[in-house]
Amino acid sequence: MRNSTPPPARDRAAEHGEKVVFSPRDLEFELNVTKAILRSLDVDQILYVVLSGITAGEGLGFNRGLFMLADEGQRTLRMSMGIGPTDEQDAHRIWEDMKAKDLTLGALLSEYDSDKSDPNAHHLTRHLADLSVPLDRLGEMAHAHVSPRSAGEAPLEPMLAHCLLERSPLSSRSLVLTWWPPNGSSEPFRLRNWWMVPLLTPDRVVGMLVADDAFSEREVSSADKHLLLALANLAAIAVEKGYLFSQMRRFAEVDGLTGLANRRVYDQELSRMLRAARRTGRPVSLVLIDVDHFKQYNDRYGHLAGDDVLRQVAAALRRQARRTDLIARYGGEEFTVVLPDTTLDQATAVADKLIGAVRSTQEALGARQGVTASAGVACSLAGQLDDKQLFAAADRAVYEAKRKGRDRVEVTANG
Ligand code: GH3
Ligand code: MG
Ligand code: MG
Repeated sequence: MRNSTPPPARDRAAEHGEKVVFSPRDLEFELNVTKAILRSLDVDQILYVVLSGITAGEGLGFNRGLFMLADEGQRTLRMSMGIGPTDEQDAHRIWEDMKAKDLTLGALLSEYDSDKSDPNAHHLTRHLADLSVPLDRLGEMAHAHVSPRSAGEAPLEPMLAHCLLERSPLSSRSLVLTWWPPNGSSEPFRLRNWWMVPLLTPDRVVGMLVADDAFSEREVSSADKHLLLALANLAAIAVEKGYLFSQMRRFAEVDGLTGLANRRVYDQELSRMLRAARRTGRPVSLVLIDVDHFKQYNDRYGHLAGDDVLRQVAAALRRQARRTDLIARYGGEEFTVVLPDTTLDQATAVADKLIGAVRSTQEALGARQGVTASAGVACSLAGQLDDKQLFAAADRAVYEAKRKGRDRVEVTANG
């Protein structure tokens, strides 16, 4: 892995030898936020902690803070999370709340968990949901930017593009930046007394941090400015780390060929659902699906064509399943579908549909011969069969389906 320490966002005041004095409170604040960030590998949580630090009265005290993040393909910078009021009316209510916010490490993290499920939180995130900048057209877009030293109003996107191209923070107390939501709103969103800091690593654009004081005039102290840049640089490293972690987790949980959950996830989730079923007394059913004569298919058309079939079968199963069902590639040409809260009869009906969906992959395979599959169904009532017993029961049913001629569903009734 390459060293991903970002180049610190350039600070012109410091370059000119300006002396910055940090108070013990500043340093404690920085330490608290840093500790909270280092603890987390969840990108949303990292953004939340930094934005809380930027907006809370106990922190930097900006009216609003927002993060935009680049997508993985580095094509677009998109709105990710914003904290603060959307307009003047919203301001007062949220403000009091923010000023009262306790900035201890534990409070920041626990508030995130409660806010996540609160539909009233993150107003600003929703309001700006469509704000984006195409990263492959930065030059073209930045062309329209207006100098931050000028006065009046100018559109936000060109300034964001300019900031990314410059790779250094920008701010203005005289120029108001506007953005029109596409929903036909009568007023634009306005950034006043704003700061924007690009989040960069040597390899890529991670995102952009924007903070503003739209509803209160004040001087941002030199120390606060330094803390803002330090937080932005820290956020860039932390977000990158969070991405790498989620990528690794994806590799560990997802089957590379089909994109379905892998055997490990199947094992974990089935055990979890059976434990829950023992508490609730509800049934859990399992459908085991095995592609018919797949060895012959490989022999006839080659392994790459075989791989294509497995991808098509996976897609067909995915289209049929409900959101709560867990479809996994158990191994080779065998797939499992775990159905929580589902009786044997209901699961048998589902299995019939799944087998039908496999049959209909023929169309996608073109001139090649289609495939069929055999399914075995079993049910654990109130979790009475454990994971191994449930699988063994479904496996016996598959064997029976094969014996009776394939392309069909069989059931093992009592475990
Ligand atoms: P049956 O109808 O009895 O299930 O016959 P079958 O040929 O499907 O069963 P068998 O267990 O004999 O063969 C399974 C084949 O699946 C053999 C193996 O090469 C193939 N297979 C397993 N994993 C993959 C894969 O990832 N890609 C491809 N192309 N083939 C695979
Ligand atoms: Mg098999
Ligand atoms: Mg098979």
